[in-house]
Amino acid sequence: MFIGHYGPSFALKAIRPAIPLWLLFIAVQLVDIGWALLVLLGVERVRIVPGITASNPLDLYYMPYTHSLAAVALWSTVAIILWKFLPRSRTWSAAALVGLAVFSHWLLDLLVHGPDLPVYDDTMKVGLGLWNYPAIALLLEVVLLFGGMAMYMRRTTAINAIGRFGPPILGITMIAVQCYLFFGPPPTSPAAAAISALVSYVVFAAVAQWLDRQRRSATVQP
Ligand SMILES: [Zn+2]
Repeated sequence: MFIGHYGPSFALKAIRPAIPLWLLFIAVQLVDIGWALLVLLGVERVRIVPGITASNPLDLYYMPYTHSLAAVALWSTVAIILWKFLPRSRTWSAAALVGLAVFSHWLLDLLVHGPDLPVYDDTMKVGLGLWNYPAIALLLEVVLLFGGMAMYMRRTTAINAIGRFGPPILGITMIAVQCYLFFGPPPTSPAAAAISALVSYVVFAAVAQWLDRQRRSATVQP
C-alpha cells in the first residue's frame, strides 16, 4: 500500500491537532522508510518480478526487520516512547496515537500484500493479496486517503486559497503517482525502487506540512 497509508495520518491529525502533520506522514511510512534504507544496505531483500502480483512487481521475499508483525510492534513501541519523552514530555495518549500511526502501516499492508509479511522473523507469512485486484486495490487506497482527508478538512479551516485547494490537489497528485506505480513500467532495480520511495515519503511529508500551515484547527490539545 502507498497513498492509502496517509488516510490514518490525516484522521489522527483531525483527532489530535497538536501532533504535527509531517510527523504523522513519516510515522505511517516509518517501516517503509526503514525498509528502503535496509534494501539499500543489502540487509532486507527484494527483486523485481513483473507479474508477481497484478499491480505490484516487487517480490518482497526478505523483510523481517521492517515488515514482520513482531518488528512493527517493536517499531511502534519505540515511536511511542520517543514521542512521549523526546525532546520534552508529552501526554501518553498523544504518544499512543503516534504509535498507532506506525502500526497502521502493517494492518493496511496486510490487506494488499501477497503472503510476504512475516508474523515474526522470516516465517508465517501473511497477506490478503488485494494487489491481485488492481481496481479494488486502487479504490481502497483512494477511499482511505480521501476518507482521512475529509476528517481533517472538517476539523480545520483554510486561512487562504492554498489551504483550501492544496490538500485535494495533493490527493489527486498522489493518485496519479499511485496509478503510475500500478500501471506504469516496473522500477529498474531494487535500489531505484527504494530511492524513489524515500524521496516520495519526504516530499509528501514536507508538502503536507506546508499545506497544514495554510489551515487552522479549532482546538489544540497537547
Ligand atoms: Zn510497507
